[in-house]
Amino acid sequence: MKLVDHPEVVESLRAPSKEEPWRVLFSACMLGEKVGVDGTDYGMGEGHPEWLKSPRLHRVGFCPEAFKMGVPRTMPDIHGGDGFDVLDGEARVLDEHGEDLTEAMVAGAEAMVEFAKEHQVEWAYLTDMSAACGTQVIFDGCRYDEPPSYQQGVGVAAALLIRNDIPVVSYRDCRTLEQLRLKAQPDSTPDPEAIDHHETQWCRDYFSAAAETDQ
Ligand code: SF4
Repeated sequence: MKLVDHPEVVESLRAPSKEEPWRVLFSACMLGEKVGVDGTDYGMGEGHPEWLKSPRLHRVGFCPEAFKMGVPRTMPDIHGGDGFDVLDGEARVLDEHGEDLTEAMVAGAEAMVEFAKEHQVEWAYLTDMSAACGTQVIFDGCRYDEPPSYQQGVGVAAALLIRNDIPVVSYRDCRTLEQLRLKAQPDSTPDPEAIDHHETQWCRDYFSAAAETDQ
């Protein structure tokens, strides 16, 4: 499940310690690994809350796209649905040239789930917007279209993690991350103004306008 939708699951997680840290799966680019389509980490290795580097977390990284398609590679985006639809055979993943990457994306997702199980991860900290790792907002079709379109949905790897009962959260879900921090650092005070990505003004404006257009 998405932790943003299930605060009770955050509440029920065990409290981690240095001796028994949380085992957390990271999108590999967010650990600074150069696994992006262009051979960089997209700058995603920086800027995460300090508590995520605490010894109370054991971090393991995996990139489902690089695992299957290598680096560099073309840019995958989902057409006709989100990651769940891809898993169900109702949507496809195409790159910017129209090449079908669906099979590789599903195989990469399966490898990520296998990796997560091997490492007994308790929850996953993922990027957003990615056709593999996105958990809140992803592109609706090719991201290089002008203007690009967005949809609320998950990427292929995020969908398969969810279906395997591995909770996921996006790095943009600040409210939920504050609640996770409180579990890891009980003497911390959560930021009362922190909000999750779907609560941001951009998300509310974009998706309410898109819903009106659809009517
Ligand atoms: S597939 Fe996931 S881990 Fe790999 S570069 Fe994209 S967002 Fe990062």
